[in-house]
Amino acid sequence: MTRLIPSFHLYALMRTSLVLLLTFVCASQWSFAVNEINGLRLWRAPDKTRLVFDMSEAANYKLFTLPAPYRVVIDLKNTTIADKLMQVELKDSLIRGIRNAVHNGDNLRVVLDLDRKVKPNQFVLKPNKQYGHRLVVDLLSISDQPIKSVRQQQEKGFGTREVIVAIDAGHGGEDPGATGHNGVREKDIVFQIAQRLKHLMEKEPGIRPVMTRKGDYYVKLKRRRQIARDIYRADLMVSLHADAWKDERTQGASLFVLSRSGATSTRASYLAKKENEADLIGGVELEDKDDVLKSVLVDLALEGSMEHSLDVGSYILGELGKVAKLHKSKVEQAGFMVLKSPDIPGVLVELGFISNRKEEKAFTTAEYQNKLARAILKGVKKYFNKQPPPDTYFANLRNGDPIRHRIARGETLSEIALRYRISPKRLKTFNAISSDIIRVGQVLRIPNS
Ligand SMILES: [Zn+2]
Repeated sequence: MTRLIPSFHLYALMRTSLVLLLTFVCASQWSFAVNEINGLRLWRAPDKTRLVFDMSEAANYKLFTLPAPYRVVIDLKNTTIADKLMQVELKDSLIRGIRNAVHNGDNLRVVLDLDRKVKPNQFVLKPNKQYGHRLVVDLLSISDQPIKSVRQQQEKGFGTREVIVAIDAGHGGEDPGATGHNGVREKDIVFQIAQRLKHLMEKEPGIRPVMTRKGDYYVKLKRRRQIARDIYRADLMVSLHADAWKDERTQGASLFVLSRSGATSTRASYLAKKENEADLIGGVELEDKDDVLKSVLVDLALEGSMEHSLDVGSYILGELGKVAKLHKSKVEQAGFMVLKSPDIPGVLVELGFISNRKEEKAFTTAEYQNKLARAILKGVKKYFNKQPPPDTYFANLRNGDPIRHRIARGETLSEIALRYRISPKRLKTFNAISSDIIRVGQVLRIPNS
């Protein structure tokens, strides 16, 4: 039953609300402390620029865009910034210039001049172990073309498919990962080793490496999986990390694959939590919204890829054991987000302990980095030789089937010969080619021996 409120009551109620509202406005005017921006950081990714405002208080802000030329305007209530902080290196970012001005009394207006249309995505972050209050503004480029799957491109031709290995250098950008006693950062050394591994793989016949991050910027864990699985349709994902532990004597490499039923050791679960926390630092909450049906399907698919993950993991760990100390001689299992792809095998390599002074130092040397990269490559090759995906170079090699190479733009005969470890002369004779002129799309047969 509805009861009507007598009109004088309503009037009193409105009057009280008004008084309360006015009191609140006045109080808040006086009680607002000045929010100080004490840092401005910028991270660039190929498709995204991230701007982070480090602030003394939680940001009270409004953000909007203006067209022609494209601008993003951020109005910050009761906020100040020192001029020197505005000197941010903008090269290779989507931002052409940053301007600021005092706006409406004590407010600050920051204007980002952009070189193209963007989709802004902004959020505030509470203080954590590393940083204080932050306002994060992500500018996503919306004019970028979607990247075509490498495998799709290859399948169009008659060439024997190369296996695609997604190399995932952990952390990046505002997420440094673990830091050693002498300041060596996990994000830097794993990226260097990832690049070495990539270069080694590029010289191998039948393997095409791709990177989930190509520079010092943060990539969400879910996005890393997407890059490996959806964009590149990788046959394998190798995620590289370095460990840290309270006891600095702890050392050695270890290798993890995804487990469905929880971690096999306390350390594994601790580590899974730590590596997964990266997404919290990156400013995105862990996404685990799979419904029951989806997770059942994923589990079914995981059964297959997990066995492969365990195989490739034991080969890599075996090779690593020849060049590095091992922390654990057996493949461990934990619930890493980055490995949660239902249909591709994946391993997470903790290359050693950055918290151990000896290993921290070794990590910075080209010699040790190459040793580790070579060991991983050996393990990966062993796996593909033993369990080659169908229609690949490795499958044909195993079956004694002919290997075909479809010539891509920019390739030369001598490069192709080098890649398959044969002489250019043999390659030419085998294909009955008399001149050095080849054309894009032409298919060469490669002697299989
Ligand atoms: Zn890590």
